[in-house]
Amino acid sequence: MAWFTKVRKPIEPPGKQSRVPEGLWVKCPSCGQVIYNKDLAASLSVCTKCSHHFRLNAAERLRSLFDGDWVEHDRGLASTDPLGFTDTKPYRKRLDASMAATGLKDAVITATGRIDGVEAVAAAMEYGFIGGSMGVVVGEKITRAIERAVAGRLPTIIVSCSGGARMMEGALSLMQMAKISAALARLDRARLPYISVLTDPTTGGVTASFAMLGDVNIAEPKALIGFAGPRVIEQTIRQTLPEGFQRSEFLLEHGMLDMVVDRRELKDVITRVLRFGAPTPRAHAAPSALTAT
Ligand SMILES: [Zn+2]
Repeated sequence: MAWFTKVRKPIEPPGKQSRVPEGLWVKCPSCGQVIYNKDLAASLSVCTKCSHHFRLNAAERLRSLFDGDWVEHDRGLASTDPLGFTDTKPYRKRLDASMAATGLKDAVITATGRIDGVEAVAAAMEYGFIGGSMGVVVGEKITRAIERAVAGRLPTIIVSCSGGARMMEGALSLMQMAKISAALARLDRARLPYISVLTDPTTGGVTASFAMLGDVNIAEPKALIGFAGPRVIEQTIRQTLPEGFQRSEFLLEHGMLDMVVDRRELKDVITRVLRFGAPTPRAHAAPSALTAT
């Protein structure tokens, strides 16, 4: 029989005894403020203290833009892994893991709905799906969305959040840049507006194609927007890059963007742009003004 039966328990660290359940609070990575989850959702995932913009997923993004429900398009399209590609792990496995994590078949949701009463086609990219990369499915879904807009004479809004073209689909992913750009050219010829919204991050082949082709290019504050990463650029041009390079505000200052808009005002701004570009003549315009040459 043992003399001592009482086993010593290590002293619990104070953090473990917190009465607040995990996941109810979020710490802002910019200012350190601890924010209640529901408050964060109410402010569209923008820090109430320092206006840091947390990343939204594709469904949250559409919810923030549309008035209510929307009709989703081409939900079933999925990549066939055309190259049978394997890097550190098979592309097929990456696809399956992303599908399980996001509940989507690929990195974009396209839909038709109403924005402050104005019917519009919108696409929102999902960063959680292989970095929001653009493969064949993303390219096809966005192209079809634009074609729907042309057929229905509707404006198009694309919210980018992407690391660029999906290299696991090789040249096929690069072809999407040309395909989407060509569809946007048809939208332009049909004299329909296209609003591009660039969020953190918008890089690579997405910046180099549709994200920068908007009739109006709007970015969220402090979003990383660029083509190549800063390290590659520094090595190529052999110069140190200026402060804030590749952020929304810097790009606005240098004429690459039209506006930098806080997410909480984004819907209002988009609505204003849509109404400004609406094909219907304004009711108060005098008939003579419309017929004057
Ligand atoms: Zn903050």
